Amino acid sequence: MNPDEVRTAVDEFATRIDALGPPSGAPVAVEVELSPAAAKALVEALRSWHDPRDQGSCAQCGTGRLDETFTCVSCGQPAGLFGQLVRERLARHRTD
Ligand SMILES: [Zn+2]
Repeated sequence: MNPDEVRTAVDEFATRIDALGPPSGAPVAVEVELSPAAAKALVEALRSWHDPRDQGSCAQCGTGRLDETFTCVSCGQPAGLFGQLVRERLARHRTD
């Protein structure tokens, strides 16, 4: 396991987590030494981690992530069947 692969896994993990919420403060710098087996396990753990705040991607804008209320953090649209009902109701309300 080469160090670049571990670093890439950590960077991808951080990007994924940071996209789920507002900025959380100054970055934390860490330096660790791992055995090859521990490095491999860390990379696998980071890649398989599913954050409980991550409810999937937005079908409306395609790039945003959904928060715990299934609302897109990028475009603000509610997702799924509930979102569809809200949008239909709003559209009907606007034409009344
Ligand atoms: Zn969206």
